[in-house]
Amino acid sequence: MKPTIKTSRRDFIRKSSIGAGALIMGPALSSLALTKPGKRLGIALVGLGSYSSGQLAPALQHTKNCYLAGIVTGTPAKAVSWAKKYNIPQKNVYNYQNFDNIAHNPDIDIVYVVLPVSMHKEYTIRAAKAGKHVICEKPMALNAADCREMIAACKKANRLLSIGYRLHFEPHTQEVMRLGQKQIFGKVTKVDTGNGFTYNGDPNAWRLKKAMAGGGGLMDMGIYAIQGARYTLGQEPVAVKARQEKTRPDFFKEVDETVYWELKFPGGAKVTGKSSYNHDWGYLRAEAKKGSFELEPAYGYGGLDGKVNGKPMDIPNIIQQAAQMDDFAACVTLNKQSRVPGEEGLKDMKVVDAIYRSLDSGDWEKIA
Ligand code: NAD
Repeated sequence: MKPTIKTSRRDFIRKSSIGAGALIMGPALSSLALTKPGKRLGIALVGLGSYSSGQLAPALQHTKNCYLAGIVTGTPAKAVSWAKKYNIPQKNVYNYQNFDNIAHNPDIDIVYVVLPVSMHKEYTIRAAKAGKHVICEKPMALNAADCREMIAACKKANRLLSIGYRLHFEPHTQEVMRLGQKQIFGKVTKVDTGNGFTYNGDPNAWRLKKAMAGGGGLMDMGIYAIQGARYTLGQEPVAVKARQEKTRPDFFKEVDETVYWELKFPGGAKVTGKSSYNHDWGYLRAEAKKGSFELEPAYGYGGLDGKVNGKPMDIPNIIQQAAQMDDFAACVTLNKQSRVPGEEGLKDMKVVDAIYRSLDSGDWEKIA
């Protein structure tokens, strides 16, 4: 039986964003400015799927510390069309077989891994071994053990590693971090957050294969809600209890559809979260002793909006990915750790691992 189709991933993202055209299209706000004008660093995108083509390559037309210097693709037609569209010289076009030759290419400073999750570890490690700094997309890897290997490989190669956590460079999100972490309204007592969309994509897509995606809505969308709770509180959770719901088991044969969880934080805040491939969610609400704040949409590419004590935040949206990549390029130039290093991806994957353990055990699981 065909699943009920409501909203496509693209439709959902469009709804939860106002679209790049409506964003501030001037130079992206780089949170880390170069102290002196440096050479723009070359970025090579590995995997030219929807995120690279729809977000990263367009954002790279607005960056000031880096530019789109190279591509890695297994599809010859994409190699031709991208090279033409973005004026990429043939010597900077790679496929998955000759990728390691990138080691000898001085045009490429940073490799950005934008592949299915199961390939993040391999390409991050190969890029670091090739002497390149790495940005790896979220979720960082299939599990925390793989994240640790990736961090170790980048350390060994003396290369910087960052995770594609674009929201850390986004002003509404930064305001939530400030309000929560600095306890502007006193201690945060409650956080509730959810992220999801109604999946109606290709039933054979890698996102529905456990071996390639590691999981379903939790890995893909829930990672934002886990991040949201962590950056609102500025603390690390110690335990989690989770349950799941499957309304379309024929469609989500291998991966989770909707997952609900409660997180225990050392400060005692009541923290609930949820992720879904069957509900259009994207909010974060926090209550503190003397006030409250919220974002909705909280996790889209643009169009984020929020309220503080019921009043609109009135903060402009930016091109998040441009700010994120510019910041990492500045980090590389200044030899400074990214604010979203591999360790940040690992922290989230430790929570994800514990949520999956809790779905199996039906009990509280320690996050270790
Ligand atoms: P996609 O399916 O559109 O693209 C994946 C790319 O990988 C395609 O170009 C595909 O050809 C290539 N690929 C290479 N080997 C493959 C294989 N064996 N099987 C399948 N594809 C293969 O996916 P996407 O939406 O671009 O996502 C890519 C990564 O980016 C994922 O890790 C995803 O979580 C992440 N992502 C992040 C954000 C964000 O906001 N940070 C948004 C979307 C996606």
